[in-house]
Amino acid sequence: MGMKAGDVVPESCDCCGHDAEDCGMLENGWVSDAQFLAGGGVYCRACAHLLRLVRLEEECVWCDEPMVEEEAAEARGWVYYADEFGSLHPCCPACLARRFGITARVSLGRDG
Ligand SMILES: [Zn+2]
Ligand SMILES: [Zn+2]
Repeated sequence: MGMKAGDVVPESCDCCGHDAEDCGMLENGWVSDAQFLAGGGVYCRACAHLLRLVRLEEECVWCDEPMVEEEAAEARGWVYYADEFGSLHPCCPACLARRFGITARVSLGRDG
């Protein structure tokens, strides 16, 4: 396994245990976390999201409308919009309708 100086790819995800390659760390990056785990953990993005290690933005990615508290937000039709890297950004119902022609339908996209 080769390593580039300054760009040390972890061997595997500490959560799902998959090799860095298998869980997309090489392409998508990873989250290393020394705040929550004493020894520091390294997680693929999917796990980091599941573990809520990644602090999600709290404003609509399009119009900067501040997101209300998460459960209330869902009830109001806020959704998370996943970009090409799999990062999730909140999207308010107004922008959802405006940009995607979707009327608020609560969905927290799940990979099948
Ligand atoms: Zn993982
Ligand atoms: Zn918006």
